[in-house]
Amino acid sequence: MNKGLLFVLSGPSGVGKGTVCAALRTKLPELVYSVSATTRAPREGERDGVNYFFKTREQFQEMIQTDALLEYAEYVGNYYGTPRDFVEKTLSEGKDIILEIEVQGALKVKEKFPDGVFIFLMPPSLDELKSRLGGRGTESQATIDHRLSVAKDEINLLYHYDYAVVNDQIDLACKRIDSIITAEHCKRVRFLHELYNCEHDAVSAADNV
Ligand code: 5GP
Repeated sequence: MNKGLLFVLSGPSGVGKGTVCAALRTKLPELVYSVSATTRAPREGERDGVNYFFKTREQFQEMIQTDALLEYAEYVGNYYGTPRDFVEKTLSEGKDIILEIEVQGALKVKEKFPDGVFIFLMPPSLDELKSRLGGRGTESQATIDHRLSVAKDEINLLYHYDYAVVNDQIDLACKRIDSIITAEHCKRVRFLHELYNCEHDAVSAADNV
């Protein structure tokens, strides 16, 4: 069976990754979503196993030690990580999966999955990002300031990504991501790979004929 494609969606805190992912879930029900583990406290309305697997620092450390995470990062004082088994199982079943993670983690995934597709969600402007972060009303001013300064550093790492999608409107952002997924499946290299079920080297050789 052909493997599914791995998509990684990053972007600064407050850019609307969660909202875009929620909209994508409705629009693209066949796309599988990876639920991360975190030591952050749940926000109002968040549910364990749905939004995140909420862990103590000890439980998270144990996941690190038992190699249960594909990647993890410390972000604004908390750990976040992607459970490995679920991602590997989903891909081996031929299904596409999307990881919504921050930049350090995305770069680690890129080392392990160079064929992954890396999408960066951009705010329309930094001013807009600042007002979205403040408007969420879930964080203290110190946390908002910290997240904004991390956001600026994250945007500087955009060049590691394959695509930049501006989140000016949720519907448009989803449409752009949907188009990227379709385009990635139509890539000549992947198409030949799937058609002949051969390795990349053989595909490249066939390309040169
Ligand atoms: P939040 O606390 O706002 O839910 O998430 C904070 C940041 O952590 C966001 O940028 C989010 O994408 C990122 N994040 C969520 N899950 C993971 C994960 O499994 N690994 C990494 N590296 N980052 C994650």
